[in-house]
Amino acid sequence: MSAADTPSSGSDPARSDGRTGVSAAGPDPALDPAGRVDWLVEQIRHHNGAYYEQDAPEIPDADYDALVRELRALEAEHPDLVSPDSPTQTGVGGAPSTQFAPVEHTVPMMSLDNAMDVDELRAWGERTARRLAELGIDGPVRYVCELKIDGLAMSIRYEGGEYVRAATRGNGKVGEDVTANVAGIDPVPARLGKGAPPVLEVRGEIYLPIDAFHALQARTEAENAQAVAAGRKPRPVPVNPRNAGAGSLRQKDASVTASRGLAFWCYQLGEVVGADAQPSHSGALEWLRGLGLPVNPNTKIVDDLDAVYEFCAYWTEHRHELDYEIDGIVVKLDDLAVQQAMGATAKAPRWAIAYKLPPEERTTILRDIQVSVGRTGRATPFAVLEPVFVGGSTVGMATLHNADQVALKDVRPGDTVTVRKAGDVIPEVVGPVLELRPKGLKEWVFPSDCPSCGGPLERGEGEVQHRCNNEACPSRVLARICHFASRGAMDIDGLGEQQVALFLDLGLLSDVAGIYTLDMDRIRELPGYGDLSVSNLTAAIDASRSRPLANLLFGLNIVHLGPSGAEALTAALGGLDAVRGASVDDLAAVEGIGPVIAESVHSFFADPVQADLVDRLVAAGLNVAGPERSVLPQTLTGKAVVVTGTVPGFSRDDAEQAIKARGGKSPGSVSKKTFAVVVGESPGASKLTKAQDLGVPVLDAAASAAVFESLLETGELP
Ligand code: NAD
Repeated sequence: MSAADTPSSGSDPARSDGRTGVSAAGPDPALDPAGRVDWLVEQIRHHNGAYYEQDAPEIPDADYDALVRELRALEAEHPDLVSPDSPTQTGVGGAPSTQFAPVEHTVPMMSLDNAMDVDELRAWGERTARRLAELGIDGPVRYVCELKIDGLAMSIRYEGGEYVRAATRGNGKVGEDVTANVAGIDPVPARLGKGAPPVLEVRGEIYLPIDAFHALQARTEAENAQAVAAGRKPRPVPVNPRNAGAGSLRQKDASVTASRGLAFWCYQLGEVVGADAQPSHSGALEWLRGLGLPVNPNTKIVDDLDAVYEFCAYWTEHRHELDYEIDGIVVKLDDLAVQQAMGATAKAPRWAIAYKLPPEERTTILRDIQVSVGRTGRATPFAVLEPVFVGGSTVGMATLHNADQVALKDVRPGDTVTVRKAGDVIPEVVGPVLELRPKGLKEWVFPSDCPSCGGPLERGEGEVQHRCNNEACPSRVLARICHFASRGAMDIDGLGEQQVALFLDLGLLSDVAGIYTLDMDRIRELPGYGDLSVSNLTAAIDASRSRPLANLLFGLNIVHLGPSGAEALTAALGGLDAVRGASVDDLAAVEGIGPVIAESVHSFFADPVQADLVDRLVAAGLNVAGPERSVLPQTLTGKAVVVTGTVPGFSRDDAEQAIKARGGKSPGSVSKKTFAVVVGESPGASKLTKAQDLGVPVLDAAASAAVFESLLETGELP
């Protein structure tokens, strides 16, 4: 099931609409402003506790932000309703817990004011300019743009260059002593380099890198499977790196924190004793870097707000190339004397602003849970959502994977649910907002009958998936033909789900071989069709006849056989006859083909119905020859070479093909096993950083392909 995504048109409805989900509840502000203010204050306090004290927020940040903004707007409209203990008037964060000893911050740890769009960024620029003029400060303004790391603020103190203490932000004045926990975090140095002053307190963000987050999710899922098998309750699987990171840090047992792979970026000076005053923030960052502290490299000094906005726009688009999550861009005035003169409000410095990136989590209403049946009969539940703009597109559907996942998340039609969509990752329903659950909402039960053919949906012993076992189920037939015509398989333009469904309905088509004998005269007469569309469809079908054999094998819907398995089979065995005639052992001997796939391929070709289908495809003139064997020297056999960016003279595909033609692999990501990373022009930041982190050799091929060509020729590093 694919989620219904509508690409973003550039405007962002999420930013103007604060009243979906959570903020739509409570008293009506027009009829009862005082009641609304009380309700908002109570809500914000409650969510502060869940977020800052329990590391277990119940609603997405965007919803929380909408509550705060609404409160601020109502208080501005009705100043008589502002109470001194309103969350807009008090300090930052939550109450420090009693689990850790308190630490008083000598220099308060503040929050940041937010700008939600370019207009708010400009308004901050104008306020800043006015204040500088009032203070009699003139001259050019320099801004430092930094990534806003989505983690947990930390104060780390060194005395005489030695690590002595780490504390959370807490309420800004008093934080929690997490010295033992932070000591186990790799990038936090135990000792600073030469030139460290007697006291240096740095501020920064502890965060969980995305890889470490996925590893933690996988570990929790594996532990849950064991727990469930033993009749114990599963633990919640962490839903985002920020909360998982904060939870990992605030552990009673510091060895648990150390095992989670947390990391640190440092971005600010705190208390400093015994060092020359730094004139600028950017200079201070360089100084910290020189002392051995990790300072994020993606920082830029610029002279005007246009350039600031360009930086924001760049990272809005490229945020997912990083191995950690960011939720904004922090813009700071560079001159530290100017910072000092600008001062701060009760909550945030006036010399900085956080430009918030569009949210990747939002709440919406779960209208229904339905089940879709795929080409292999797998029955997958999916959420039908009130469409919501999140992570750059409008999401109306999201997979719920299987019955166990629905039960574990306990989402029910009618619930308000949190939806998460990070970049190209498919949207996910994180869970319900329980406090908004209407009374009497029933648990969802997996249907017993197939929604398409009415046959039984069965779940085998030890299986997680329900299945419809009727080969002739209309949903399965439709999905099989759509898969055959899809881009990764035979790539037939103009034969999408709608068209296939129509042709099936009209009896023009019943299986994939029927595509090659479609009655074009009848199709020409259908509403919406004509000479041009029929000739385009005919040309697209003709073009599919010459697709590589691996595409055909993949398109045949052989259970477990993916595109790389199909490629491995044709590369090793040759043409269709050889693949068809291979024994299970011959198939399993091919590198990349395990016994399960071998068995499945063999039984597919042994099935008389499938054999007949394949014969009809052969008769339709499809390409059944294997790929030409490479005559190039196999210099890269067994070596994985990752290419990032454009190598001069090579398209992305060319570069990957050149590696594969020499026996190598060209995976999409860098790991410890990567032989080398070839870096062309405009490389992905995350691949490069990862290669450097893992010590994988990096070959610079941005200006010239010579180094890449030499690698291809010799298989050796220069
Ligand atoms: P903030 O997170 O918007 O901004 C301040 C923080 O940014 C700093 O404390 C620091 O930790 C961090 N930061 C990251 N990179 C930085 C950099 N380069 N320079 C300076 N600081 C950097 O403000 P906040 O006061 O920490 O928290 C408010 C936010 O927390 C809300 O906007 C909301 O998103 C979230 N929140 C969510 C809930 C919820 O229920 N979901 C509840 C409370 C707060």
